[in-house]
Amino acid sequence: MYKSVMRKYARLTVRMGVNLQKKQGLIVVAETDQAEFALMVADEAYKAGAKWVDIRWSNESLQKLKYRHESLKVLSETKAWEKARLQDQVDEMPARLLIESSDPDGLRGVNIEKMQKAAVARMAVQKPYRDALEGKQQWCIAAVPSVKWAKKVFPGLRASQAVEKLWEAILKAVRVSAGNDPILEWQAHSDALEARGKKLAARNFKTLHYYNVNGTDFRCDLIPGSKWEGGGARLKDGTFFVPNMPTEELFTTPKKGTAEGTLVATLPLSFQGNLIENFSITFRDGKVIEVHAEKGQALLEKIVSIDEGASMLGELALIPSDSPISNLGILFYNTLFDENAACHAALGRGFNETVPGFENMTKEELDAAGVNDSLIHVDFMIGDANMNIDGITESGEVVPVFRNGGWTGEFL
Ligand code: ZN
Repeated sequence: MYKSVMRKYARLTVRMGVNLQKKQGLIVVAETDQAEFALMVADEAYKAGAKWVDIRWSNESLQKLKYRHESLKVLSETKAWEKARLQDQVDEMPARLLIESSDPDGLRGVNIEKMQKAAVARMAVQKPYRDALEGKQQWCIAAVPSVKWAKKVFPGLRASQAVEKLWEAILKAVRVSAGNDPILEWQAHSDALEARGKKLAARNFKTLHYYNVNGTDFRCDLIPGSKWEGGGARLKDGTFFVPNMPTEELFTTPKKGTAEGTLVATLPLSFQGNLIENFSITFRDGKVIEVHAEKGQALLEKIVSIDEGASMLGELALIPSDSPISNLGILFYNTLFDENAACHAALGRGFNETVPGFENMTKEELDAAGVNDSLIHVDFMIGDANMNIDGITESGEVVPVFRNGGWTGEFL
């Protein structure tokens, strides 16, 4: 029943997500159980003029076996053929589409430290290639249901019903329906996000103050001149693409060391197959000094102490409580969706690209500007229909930004 709508979605990821150019190659990364959608994407890519399409199949169960049985040394290696593949991407600049369908519990039981150490080692070797691709390669992450994911989101339903329900939810979230032109909708959506981001940046707020009846009372400074990113992105040559589908957020990197007060979570946090529920995090001088969780206290304590940066913030993101994803009222157990359902903050690594002049700054300069660094970047949701946020300017003017969970004043 969904075939025609599925195809529309596949077309959207090609034409709007990666915005594949004529005679450009396309790398698709997909789980082995997503062949049907991956092949639709391939077909749509050829229709859009792809020079070639290469699907790289992955399998989460195999990944888990690898983490369990291979040594850290082996897991940390980047093989010669992987480097050759990366070099090939740098030379030819194909677009890259990741089809996300992972089981939220797929890595449960895996040694987190081993996984992270291996990832860091591989990242170090692959960084020169990634840097060479940055700003030149269009990429996009979009999601399709797997049985395990769907059963996690809708545990009471039969597998086939759960998958159907998750399809419905995903298609709503990515603005694809039987009767619409999703490409036009995405253009308007992305333009609106970008315009609002510019208005926020133009105010150059020194501090944001969050407060609501849940007990959140929190202040954090922003990096002077910082940008609010959202919607689509542009390559250095101006080519437009949409890195995340869906996306509802405007985000920035807050100034490290300035977080003060308490954030009360409004949604559970799913961390590698484990849930942390009804929790709050309190900061002083930019660092976590206290966490409280009705469920998952020990895990939350562990997360904030993985490394020094894990106890500081790397992201603040604003999303109105009246948005297509939050209106679904579903916990997806997947950051791509859940982080777009509510205002959130992230513990750990910040984004360089919201800092003015980041292209020409060294790691030390970004550090000094206030960009936090960590092995982790963990989003947690703090927004709901009660959220109020004020922007405070350098001169002390208090400007309402959010009232009762939604944009207000000039930001409406
Ligand atoms: Zn975010």
